[in-house]
Amino acid sequence: MGEKGKRVFAWMMALLMAVMVVAPTVSILVHADDDEEYEDDYDEDEDDLQDMLDRLNSKYKKLQEQNNAVQQKINAAASEKQKQVVIKQEIDGQINTTIEQIDTLDERIAVLEQRIVEKTREMSAKQKEIDENFSLYQQRLRAMCSLQGTSTLGLVLGVDDFSDMLLRTDVVTAVAQHDTDLINELKEQKAELEAIKKEIEDDKTSVEEDKRETVSKQEELKAQQATAVSRIQDIAAQEQEFLANKAELTKQMQQVQAEISAIIAEINKTSLNTKYIGGGMAWPSASLFQVTCPYGSRFGGSDFHTGIDISGGGAYGSPVLAANSGTVKVANTSFTPGYGYGKYVIIDHGGGIQTLYGHMSALSVSVGDVVAQGQKIGEVGSTGWSTGPHIHFEIRVNNKAVNPQGWSP
Ligand SMILES: [Zn+2]
Repeated sequence: MGEKGKRVFAWMMALLMAVMVVAPTVSILVHADDDEEYEDDYDEDEDDLQDMLDRLNSKYKKLQEQNNAVQQKINAAASEKQKQVVIKQEIDGQINTTIEQIDTLDERIAVLEQRIVEKTREMSAKQKEIDENFSLYQQRLRAMCSLQGTSTLGLVLGVDDFSDMLLRTDVVTAVAQHDTDLINELKEQKAELEAIKKEIEDDKTSVEEDKRETVSKQEELKAQQATAVSRIQDIAAQEQEFLANKAELTKQMQQVQAEISAIIAEINKTSLNTKYIGGGMAWPSASLFQVTCPYGSRFGGSDFHTGIDISGGGAYGSPVLAANSGTVKVANTSFTPGYGYGKYVIIDHGGGIQTLYGHMSALSVSVGDVVAQGQKIGEVGSTGWSTGPHIHFEIRVNNKAVNPQGWSP
């Protein structure tokens, strides 16, 4: 090989080295594009989850304010009697709020756990990137070492030419720049990885806090329910209340009856075209047998009770059962405290025959549900116009309330 041939060969080697260095850079760039897309998607998801968490946080706070307001009312009651009145009016609302708070906490925990899963995924993707870049860096180091170990080759090629080429050319700069970039990128990625790890730790701490909060809310709920259970329907108090506001309450009762009649009339548009499911009505409770207020005239003849009230010890929260098989036509959960049937259910049994269950604390059915006789449809409560937990149970035949005690098809 002549002097010129050696030079050409050395330049070819230099070119080869340059390709070795640049090729991985290109692959990193291509790869980085993919990751950016992935990160964009991820960031959008993460924003959604953050929005959800923010919403749940403010909802939880609002509920807490509601509960605190009720507690202040109870605490502010001067006498024991006043206190009982406030509890009667407010305890179901407070129980509702606490249940909602527990549900909100459950939702928060679910969102946080989802975010932990996604961040863990992001963390392993980041770790993979680091591993890949690190192995590129190691390849680079190895390439440098083998360059340094080319003295024999260098001898063959002519040491002067080769070291000359290494010192002189842009390749050296490119190699150095590339190494610096690679190291900087590795450092950056390492910092990002640490940040994600920290976020995951923070989310895990939040989950722990939420779980502790749930336990304490469940205890609070138990105490509130115990307060509610200690009450049973107070008929004397109800009569007193009625007579004290007779004009207004009579108007209210008429309004409630008109609302119910309109609903039943609507149900009967289809119900009257079907046949009654058959059989008698079963008792709507498995544990309460005391009729605290029968069907018929009440409050000294100033009101007509369209159903029977069933109560007893441990009434609050005990299951309310479907008196017969049928289809749920109304499952009303929104109500004005002190007005009407509160949370109530109407089941259509066909042939223009329905049953109504009033004042429940919770419903376990929705409109359209087909229920079997004896199936739980909700829990006893004291919602609406009620002076203590009881079931208001009513049977309607052709939109007329009949006496449930002794009714047979
Ligand atoms: Zn009643």
